[in-house]
Amino acid sequence: MNDITYMKLALQLAQGTMGQTSPNPIVGSVVVNNGEIVGMGAHLKAGTEHAEVHAIKMAGEKAKGATIYVTLEPCSHHGKTPPCADLIINNKLKRVVIACLDPNPLVAGNGVEKLRKANIEVEIGVLEKEALELNKVFFHYIKTKKPFVTLKTATSLDGKIATSKGESKWITGELAREDVQQLRHEHDGILVGIGTVLADNPALTTRRKVGGKNPTRIILDHQLRTPLTAKVVTDGEANTWIITGKTTSDSKQAELLQLGVKVINVDSEEININELLILLGEHGITSLFVEGGSAVNDSFLRSGCINEVITYIAPKLIGGKEAPTSFSGIGFPNLRDALQLSIKEVKQLGDDLKIVSVPKGE
Ligand code: NDP
Ligand code: ZN
Repeated sequence: MNDITYMKLALQLAQGTMGQTSPNPIVGSVVVNNGEIVGMGAHLKAGTEHAEVHAIKMAGEKAKGATIYVTLEPCSHHGKTPPCADLIINNKLKRVVIACLDPNPLVAGNGVEKLRKANIEVEIGVLEKEALELNKVFFHYIKTKKPFVTLKTATSLDGKIATSKGESKWITGELAREDVQQLRHEHDGILVGIGTVLADNPALTTRRKVGGKNPTRIILDHQLRTPLTAKVVTDGEANTWIITGKTTSDSKQAELLQLGVKVINVDSEEININELLILLGEHGITSLFVEGGSAVNDSFLRSGCINEVITYIAPKLIGGKEAPTSFSGIGFPNLRDALQLSIKEVKQLGDDLKIVSVPKGE
């Protein structure tokens, strides 16, 4: 067993908590004493103990002289919990192995400095790439104050998201749809346009077999056309926020408010995606799952604000000039302006394909 093996275990512990720690990062930790794993832990929820606290507690006396593996730099500031760097020093651990540094300005290198000052051996960068990927949402939010945007589409092999008469349930198979449920659980917010609400009346909740967390439902609805009977308004399953213009009906806004919906008014003629993301960031949304439809997808595409694209492709041909594709609007008239992506992952889920891609240079 070596540093990489133990760090892998710490990363797995972190990964298991994906979707439940926002706005905090996901973090895992393993304590090893003389070749024996004596403690393990993960940060479970914002406001509760950090991963290192659980792992060191479990190690007890055996923490003394041990090595601790942490997927993120141990904190050095008094937040909702005392600094983990102090805990490591006080429990007399000998060595700290860190996958990546914390970009949070309150920590950024200070944790490492504190440990080194206390004569603790510190090693940084073991499985760094994997750790950065695992916390990409947290890092993006800390740096930009805007949510990390994942745009998801489910299309037929000929790129259709619905038939010419608007039927879209279901294009992809069960496994692909289950995968989407997991992604909903992992995100703080899920966003659709009013066109999708009117066409499909979706619930936009997480329906994993093992339960899960519902993201906040965000509807782009400039003219406040969301029906008072829409599932996102009436089902009480999750928060719903409607983003609308300044001049929409006060009485409808009041009715929605009474039904528990938050109505957020924006000043502009149309909803500018970059400004929307700043607003959502201010409201604590660190990750946003965009599920369409095609007009909203097009707005996100042209805004340059997409961080990851997830495409499920079903081996079906729908055809039809009027059948919508993932992106409507004018798109990019010149090929040289098209959004260039790199494929990060290709996976088969039942009969369907899942392709994860990211803008080149991200
Ligand atoms: P959208 O869901 O994209 O909603 C578009 C409407 O949203 C606009 O007309 C506009 O109405 C409002 N809106 C507000 N702000 C913006 C903005 N910044 N950019 C774009 N729109 C904005 O509607 P579509 O009709 O394009 O797509 C719906 C179709 O897509 C349905 O048939 C649905 O079944 C299908 N679909 C398929 C999916 C799949 O994965 N297969 C997923 C989701 C939908 P206003 O001006 O009134 O505000
Ligand atoms: Zn900590």
